Amino acid sequence: MPLTIKAVSLWLAATNCYLVSGSDGGPGVIIDAPPDPGAIAEVVRRTGAVPQALLLTHGHLDHVGGAGGVVAAFGVTAHLHPADEWLAADLEGQARMLLGIGPSGEFAGAERYEPLADGAVLDLAGLRFRAIHTPGHTPGHCCFWLEDEGVLFSGDHLFAGSIGRTDLPGGDYATLMRSMAERVVPLPAATDVLPGHGPATTLARELATNPFLQDLPR
Ligand SMILES: [Zn+2]
Ligand SMILES: [Zn+2]
Repeated sequence: MPLTIKAVSLWLAATNCYLVSGSDGGPGVIIDAPPDPGAIAEVVRRTGAVPQALLLTHGHLDHVGGAGGVVAAFGVTAHLHPADEWLAADLEGQARMLLGIGPSGEFAGAERYEPLADGAVLDLAGLRFRAIHTPGHTPGHCCFWLEDEGVLFSGDHLFAGSIGRTDLPGGDYATLMRSMAERVVPLPAATDVLPGHGPATTLARELATNPFLQDLPR
């Protein structure tokens, strides 16, 4: 099925928000909600897409801070792995820790999150998204895989030339490397990788050149 992916880089952290749809103007899925729901809504309006769901890779402020606004604007359900709910429940605390600013009221998570489980298949907008639980950057981090289209939304797990940081609360390097080796590296090498920050890449390119992936068991 034809696939349209619009990427916008939003907010202070330049977080990629993706709007995925089978065709222009059709039903769509929003992946991650940076704290700028107005900008997300503008992209949706421009494409004429009709969002059916919000998939959240993890509970960090720069990916979830606009979830409440997206849910309110489109009446969609927000999906998040339960192991990251504690992060999503404390957006103001994250803002203080990351930015050194006090509660500002501009961050709003969703009131409830539909729990994601590893391997869960979500049939949305005519596409089959498979949630792959990839802990390490956060305990509940998930990548979303479109197997038929060969696309992986890798959140803050895998970047072009790098991996997600593991020095924030709940992060763990060994856990990240294990989930990388067991759940991401075995995917088809031709998979397009669309990260939560920075440019797109392919799994083949990362396997060949990403310094963090060179020592992993193959
Ligand atoms: Zn993150
Ligand atoms: Zn991020």
